[in-house]
Amino acid sequence: MSVVKPVRGTHDLIGEESRRHQHVIEVAKRVTSLYGFEEWITPIFEDTRVFSRSLGDTSDIVSKEMYCFEDRGGDSLTLRPEGTAGICRALVTNGLTQSLPQKAFYVGPMFRYERPQKGRYRQFHQIGAELLGTSTPFADAEIIAMGYHILQELGVVDDITLELNTLGDQASRKAWREALIAYFKKFQSDLSEDSLKRLEKNPLRILDSKDPKDRALLQDAPALSHHMTDKAKGFWDKLRKALDQFKIPFTENPYIVRGMDYYSHTVFEFVTTKLGAQGTVLGGGRYEGLVEEMGGPSVPSIGWAAGVERLALLLEQVPSKIKSVAVIPFSDDVHDMTFSVLQDLRRHGIYAEIAYKGNFRKQMDRANKQESVMAVLIGENEAQKQVVQVKDLTSSEQSEVAVTDLVAHLKMKMAK
Ligand code: ATP
Ligand code: MG
Repeated sequence: MSVVKPVRGTHDLIGEESRRHQHVIEVAKRVTSLYGFEEWITPIFEDTRVFSRSLGDTSDIVSKEMYCFEDRGGDSLTLRPEGTAGICRALVTNGLTQSLPQKAFYVGPMFRYERPQKGRYRQFHQIGAELLGTSTPFADAEIIAMGYHILQELGVVDDITLELNTLGDQASRKAWREALIAYFKKFQSDLSEDSLKRLEKNPLRILDSKDPKDRALLQDAPALSHHMTDKAKGFWDKLRKALDQFKIPFTENPYIVRGMDYYSHTVFEFVTTKLGAQGTVLGGGRYEGLVEEMGGPSVPSIGWAAGVERLALLLEQVPSKIKSVAVIPFSDDVHDMTFSVLQDLRRHGIYAEIAYKGNFRKQMDRANKQESVMAVLIGENEAQKQVVQVKDLTSSEQSEVAVTDLVAHLKMKMAK
């Protein structure tokens, strides 16, 4: 029969890739918990309105990347393209808007219909954090510091810079928006087709365009800084001061607007030059109206998301396989003792494996190949005397050890 291929833009994570991936997630879980975040596990699909209401019709995600389908009951569902909307929906439907602030960490697959390339997939994974219900710029700085902390713990921070921008408050954005429309209207014929569509509805989006034609016009486009209200300016000043206090280096980049419509005030991206066009590894910002879109009250919030695959690609060192012990019986007659030794080791926290295939030699070869560090050999003599032969696979040293001393012996040997 012919082979059924994986779906375009999906990938399997096996062996080294799986270990890299898990390492990123484990570090993120550990670090976010130091800041008081707890994991929220929400569904992978939601009512389509959860995303269409929140991300904005002019966002790339809603206009061309969502996996929407009708289920057998006729409901329109969407595979989540991002995590924030689902978290805000969950905040409302679980009645948690009464107990703010809430700190949610999440991890899991996201789905976007994009052109697959290195670091860009149709099913990919994100880690993310949302701090819901705080409006002080210190919260923004702390959340950014938490992202930075994860990148530090992953050992990738040297290749990455933090780019920061403000989108001001609503009043600032309204004035800026009008200035942008007036400016881009003068160059209508030079705009890309996508940007032309966005001109009236959401001109900010043009700043995010990757089209060279659009980008050429950006240099002289009106800047938000000329339209900021005093309140928005105050927020922006406090944020930058707080980042200095947290000792987080950043550069200001007025072109960062982010892909979703819901942001206000702070927006930021951690970017690297090491992944070609897929340079953003972690991005986020402040949002205000999103919880309202889900039918709740206004909840000022700040959050970010990072691509696990992109972070995994940046890891310099592949996390090593766990040190394990190969248990090797000489014959089927000693299986009783073999299995009791295996389970005893595992119950004491020692990683122990048995290969069911092949003779003694083959099993030894396999143990060496699998990078086991110790072999426990059991023959009929050993079974009678209730001892085993322990072989150090690095030094080839071998010694006889009583079964009752085995756990302590291995722990001592493997701690070295
Ligand atoms: P990009 O500009 O690269 O398309 P984005 O702005 O669409 O990114 P976000 O929606 O902010 O990305 O998602 C946060 C992070 O998730 C990104 O910085 C990136 O690391 C990762 N990410 C986004 N889309 C993909 C994808 N298709 N494949 C792999 N990782 C992705
Ligand atoms: Mg994108």
